Amino acid sequence: MAWGVKEYYFTGGEPFLNPDLVPMLEATLKYGPATVLTNGTVWKPAWLQRLQAAEAASLYSLEFRVSIDGFSPETNDPIRGEGTFCRALEGIVKLVEHGFLPIITAARTWPEEQEPHVVGEFVRMLHDAGYRRPRLKILPLLRLGAEEQRTCGYLDSERVTPEMMDGYDRSQLICEHSRTVTDRGVAVCPILIESHDALLGQSLAEAAKPYPLQHGACFTCYQYGAICANPSAR
Ligand code: SF4
Repeated sequence: MAWGVKEYYFTGGEPFLNPDLVPMLEATLKYGPATVLTNGTVWKPAWLQRLQAAEAASLYSLEFRVSIDGFSPETNDPIRGEGTFCRALEGIVKLVEHGFLPIITAARTWPEEQEPHVVGEFVRMLHDAGYRRPRLKILPLLRLGAEEQRTCGYLDSERVTPEMMDGYDRSQLICEHSRTVTDRGVAVCPILIESHDALLGQSLAEAAKPYPLQHGACFTCYQYGAICANPSAR
């Protein structure tokens, strides 16, 4: 509370693999709004009932963000793994049945000119599954991890320079106003969690220092801003 934290995000890996996640969320909802970033495949109905009750008893909201990278098995499974589309969609339907309005996040793996078609297909698919007020957030593709192998990552020229920050609204960058607590220490942001320089200390106090935007991923944040903020309902 001393840090004036306004909201809490839980991410992984898959956060629901932690057997303590449900009690942790119940406790968090006493202090502020919480968001869980999940693949939607591992929760049990009893957990959702508890979380539904915890949110109803709280002043704050509980959001779920479910990652799904295509609007069909054919477009999703080559990216996220065989069978993941159907399992994630089942999870989304369970959330909707428990009164939640999950935010569906998809990394943009299609050319930008196809965006209206792809978004339309996502909305149609979610409607057909019974999700009448779908919330969809299209994320820019970060050229990190497996994507770095596929695309050769960022060019040296794709970096944020001090001149680019002149007049730029820094509040759009999550590193400007948040930190990511991990079992290894406190990191600057969830995007760079595997980077050698991302861990800033072992406590929030140690990690409350400026961070140079020196990675290629920072260039994507700069271009698109607010990558991690939750969108409103469509
Ligand atoms: S990738 Fe860079 S700009 Fe984006 S949140 Fe992390 S440190 Fe900030």
